[in-house]
Amino acid sequence: MAERTVVIVGMTGSMGSQALEVIKKMGSFRVLAGTYHSSFEKAQMLAKEYGVEKLICTKNGSEELEGFLEENMPDIVLVCIPGFASLPVTLKALLTSKRVLLASKEALVCGGWLVRETKEETSCELIPLDSEHSAVMQLYEPSVEKILLTSSGGALRDWKLEDLDKARPEDVLKHPVWKMGKRITIDSATMVNKGFEVLEACELFQLRASQVEVLIHREGLVHAAVFLKDGTVKMHLGFPDMRIPIAYGLTYPDRRYEHRNWPSLIGTQLEFQQVEREHYPAFYLAYEIENDYAKRTAYNAADEVCVEAFLRGQIKFTDIARVVEKIVERIEGTPRDLRDLKDIDEESRKLAEEVIEWL
Ligand code: MG
Repeated sequence: MAERTVVIVGMTGSMGSQALEVIKKMGSFRVLAGTYHSSFEKAQMLAKEYGVEKLICTKNGSEELEGFLEENMPDIVLVCIPGFASLPVTLKALLTSKRVLLASKEALVCGGWLVRETKEETSCELIPLDSEHSAVMQLYEPSVEKILLTSSGGALRDWKLEDLDKARPEDVLKHPVWKMGKRITIDSATMVNKGFEVLEACELFQLRASQVEVLIHREGLVHAAVFLKDGTVKMHLGFPDMRIPIAYGLTYPDRRYEHRNWPSLIGTQLEFQQVEREHYPAFYLAYEIENDYAKRTAYNAADEVCVEAFLRGQIKFTDIARVVEKIVERIEGTPRDLRDLKDIDEESRKLAEEVIEWL
């Protein structure tokens, strides 16, 4: 197999470094560049270990990265950076490569239509790395009527409603299934992360939010299911290991990764539970703002500000949903391009900070 060239945006994060591991294990890829934000030492260490040819710092913006992509036109770009910043990078990657592997939900949450339009202009493939969406992609058929995404329910899933406002950051950072970054772990406990994933699925598979069901599934084995017109239900089972969807995205439509570390399924039970609205109010917001990109951008921005404030001990866990809801309600607009979205993102952040100050 011919060697494929790869650029990893967000190399020092958990997804980025797992991608390097997978690439090394499978061979036949050349990592042209990896970006880092502030972890220079880690970037250097990874570059040495995995033979990454160039390091690009994105702390002061993505200009150097965008220039590099234009010049080098890599085969594959992995977008693994969190937040709104993933949107412009995803758009550029779609224009300069053959395949974009997208780990960042925010690009589709905030600018889904821009991503779709840009993808249509080019012949670039867009493959999700999110485990649930990778699962749907593997199950997908044109006769899909409805899909199911599963959720662990996060670290506070067994807490009583009246205790939720006492949750401390250290309680919330204990995720029951996955090991991930801080924001996404908090977002799992509020299930805002799953709200993002509902919107992400709508963009990727051209569904309405009402066709995307979410259930809590504690075993963490079923990632997704598709319900087909003829009554067939297909489920995707997998172990909670991000290296598997990363490898699938890199080698699609082939499967070259060898995992072979199968635990036994004997005695395994699969259970699915309703997502309680009172426990996860911020999750249900996603369904209300499906068709409004201004509010979707506000949803992401306000949540990010709130998560930081919660981690600093400035607000209570339950304030996250309250503030996010307030900001989403207040922000209005009809964004037409990236610049409009940037303005809405900034406005939402400012407003969220003000609301937090007044709490
Ligand atoms: Mg996910």
